[in-house]
Amino acid sequence: MTNDKKHFRIFATSRIGDAAENRLREHGYELEVFQGPEAPAKSLIVEKVKSGIDALITTLRDKIDAEVFEAGKGSLKVVAQIAVGFDNISRADANKYKVPFTNTADVLTEATAEFAFFIMGAVARKLWSSEKLVREQTWPSWHPFLPFLGDEVTGKTIAVIGTGRIGLAMIKKSSGFDMNILCYDPAYQNQKYIAAIQETMDLRQACGIQSTKTWIKYVDFEEALRGADYVSIHVPLLREGETDKPTFHLINEKTLKQMKPTAYLINTSRGPVVNEKALAKALREKWIAGAALDVFEKEPLPADSPLLDPEIADRCRVFHHFASGAQITRLDVDPNKGMAGRTVQAVIDVLEGNYGCDPTKMPYVVNKESFAKT
Ligand code: NAD
Repeated sequence: MTNDKKHFRIFATSRIGDAAENRLREHGYELEVFQGPEAPAKSLIVEKVKSGIDALITTLRDKIDAEVFEAGKGSLKVVAQIAVGFDNISRADANKYKVPFTNTADVLTEATAEFAFFIMGAVARKLWSSEKLVREQTWPSWHPFLPFLGDEVTGKTIAVIGTGRIGLAMIKKSSGFDMNILCYDPAYQNQKYIAAIQETMDLRQACGIQSTKTWIKYVDFEEALRGADYVSIHVPLLREGETDKPTFHLINEKTLKQMKPTAYLINTSRGPVVNEKALAKALREKWIAGAALDVFEKEPLPADSPLLDPEIADRCRVFHHFASGAQITRLDVDPNKGMAGRTVQAVIDVLEGNYGCDPTKMPYVVNKESFAKT
């Protein structure tokens, strides 16, 4: 891949913040930004790509497939996604057209894991119901157990489903709350990390920092579901045909029934990993105690979603795909701190031919396989 053109044109389907946008302009690039805040129509993206742009900056709302890559044939050099998840981008089509696409892994890991941890606490300790009492002036009186009690997180057992970057960060945070940890990942078992967490747990107990002995281990999926007080999902969305272990509707009627009736489900991964109809039923019929969800099968969550049924409002916390939504994580222009910074650096790497113009050496390129020399 050689880039001899000097004046590059970029189209961004969303604002990514002043600092990052300025960095691209300072590089002399012509940057057009769709002001939103909603996503542009697919036809506009195709039109912009057809007009000969060199780079396309996308969000998870944009469907990037063969139609887009075909429109960019001969001109589109990179698609830079401001997210770690890229289920909206067809990897097969990107590879077919030999266009590198990039994501923003790592910089959002801690923010996403801490959010998962916080919403787990929010649903278990009934923070929303408690605040509602105060705001609506329906708090009767301090009482040992009325009008309701929550469930502790400290000392309980969590199942971490998917032990990639965010799953491991969730494990780290959970170990600080003296939790036992069940891990499940069919593709990637980081035994070294798990052994280090066990050592830390043992040391904390030996030093009197935690009173009980806690443990961490890899188990199969069913054992993780059956043994956990909290099940937290950290997998990518993978559909049938994309992998031999799809995650689409990984949580469904059958798997919800395997959870304890006192357990909570936490999902900060992608909405379609959970069958929402089944989850709403599980909450209504109390197969499980509650759920905290940051992501949905359709976003924004439609008003008629069964998850918004007032009958289950006390045990179903819902958030607006917000887990990585912290200032530095989203907007910092430093590629080692912010998603915006990483997105911009990914564009610069490709357009300026950094790393010897070799996408396999560029740190933020996802589909390196397409450029590997045979
Ligand atoms: P990662 O690739 O580092 O980790 C994902 C892990 O899931 C991998 O270890 C993989 O082996 C495992 N996995 C794959 N299929 C599985 C299956 N069937 N069952 C169990 N595990 C499976 O990715 P990451 O950086 O940890 O991010 C995980 C996902 O979180 C992203 O793909 C994205 O969709 C989501 N995410 C959401 C937000 C948010 O704002 N809510 C923010 C960041 C990431």
